[in-house]
Amino acid sequence: MKFISTRGGEKVTGAKAIVQGLSANGGLFVPEKFPEVTAEEFVEMLGMSYPERATKILIKYLDEYDEKELLSACEAAYAKFEGSDPAPLVRLDDGVYILELFHGPTCAFKDMALTVLPYLLRKGCDLCGITQEILVLVATSGDTGKAALEGFKDADGIKIMVFYPNDGVSKMQKLQMCTQEGKNVGVVAVKGNFDDCQTAVKEIFSSVEYNKILAENNVLLSSANSINFGRLAPQIAYYFSAYLDLVSSNQIEQGEEIDFTVPTGNFGNILAAYYAKKMGLPIRRLHCASNLNKVLTDFLQTGVYDIHREFYKTTSPSMDILISSNLERLIFEISGRDAKLTAKRMAELKKDGKYEITEEERLKIAETFDGGFADEEACVEAMYDVFVDTGYTMDTHTGCAMKVAVDWFEKNKKDETKMVIVSTANPYKFPQDVLYAVTGNDVKDSFKGVKRLHAATAMAVPKCLKELRDKPVRFGKTADRKKLFDEVLAFVKN
Ligand SMILES: *Cc1c(COP(=O)(O)O)cnc(C)c1O
Repeated sequence: MKFISTRGGEKVTGAKAIVQGLSANGGLFVPEKFPEVTAEEFVEMLGMSYPERATKILIKYLDEYDEKELLSACEAAYAKFEGSDPAPLVRLDDGVYILELFHGPTCAFKDMALTVLPYLLRKGCDLCGITQEILVLVATSGDTGKAALEGFKDADGIKIMVFYPNDGVSKMQKLQMCTQEGKNVGVVAVKGNFDDCQTAVKEIFSSVEYNKILAENNVLLSSANSINFGRLAPQIAYYFSAYLDLVSSNQIEQGEEIDFTVPTGNFGNILAAYYAKKMGLPIRRLHCASNLNKVLTDFLQTGVYDIHREFYKTTSPSMDILISSNLERLIFEISGRDAKLTAKRMAELKKDGKYEITEEERLKIAETFDGGFADEEACVEAMYDVFVDTGYTMDTHTGCAMKVAVDWFEKNKKDETKMVIVSTANPYKFPQDVLYAVTGNDVKDSFKGVKRLHAATAMAVPKCLKELRDKPVRFGKTADRKKLFDEVLAFVKN
């Protein structure tokens, strides 16, 4: 399988797409065509473990990798998850399920891919004959950073550096990153919000001059952000796995179409669902859930993507994003894979902060996608209602998705299609906000929040968060976003 850039020009192997992260012209790598899962394979997958299912999906895209080795890597990755199932489905109500993706080592869904990515990248370098040291650069809205640090810590021949917006992440997220262990890791706070942070990191990637300086130091850049196809591919697997679980537990008939509601920031998670649909998974609709930063809701409704708006800091910080990078991949598909047009639109976005698709394209998107959002109050209410009605506690990001799903149910009372709501973080990652949502209690301190939330819900506190309190802080530096490359260079030379 070959990969092409959404902005044209390049055609590379899967290994190269993963190692390089972003195409040279700034475009995102997409598969030349979507591989299909046949009916026979589907039946075969019913009896498989999660790592086996994931391998089956991954190998379709990454056919130059060794399947046995890939399976071992997936088994090792998902063995790091708590419990026997890395992506369990919880039945919330008749026809409504929660897909819990937060049982990995850092308690967020990013672990689903970032526990596998180090193998994909290491092996990808070998397949491409790359001998330089790899430097993985990450811009994070909170959860990717920690998951990437944990995934790549002490990896051979790879260094990792994470940038996060100084006041754009939760206290737990910050502590998780700043206490990171490992010899090959660096963490720096950036003045500004996530978009500033992401833009600055993207500029380093696309700068010929910076890359030349790094090459002189025998260093090659790579990315662990969700623009990297190596992040996207493992995410496709859990949509299949959730569907297979519904079939094997007799909740749905094989072939029956279902819906997913996905809390969305950079459009990576929900795009993986779209890719699963393209591969033949019977998905009817995808509900894209935003928080107050509802640029995607507006885009799906109007066809205009416009970042000129107020930026809100919300209680679901991993969705506080105005530039959803992975949307480029959807725009590319919808335009009939018109790379020239996609490049033009992305240039407009960069220059004017705005672009528009045609009405025909908008309607094509609307055949599968719709969007909704939750403001802070609606998110709290959705979380509270579920807690009171069912005893189930969800995090704030999942709360936004819940609100959007509930809105859908109310507008479509006769709709009997089963709904899976994707849950992206452990509630203890945002203990104060979740505590407030379910009990109305306000506490000033995160660890006190953890204690009270435990008292209120009796949910087990994950070990990785419990330990944080006593871990020494290793990283405390804040940098100007215009000077990130200085930090990179200092880290490389260290
Ligand atoms: C990253 C993240 C999201 C958003 O996912 P995207 O792939 O960026 O759309 C939602 N919730 C949580 C908890 C996250 O960490």
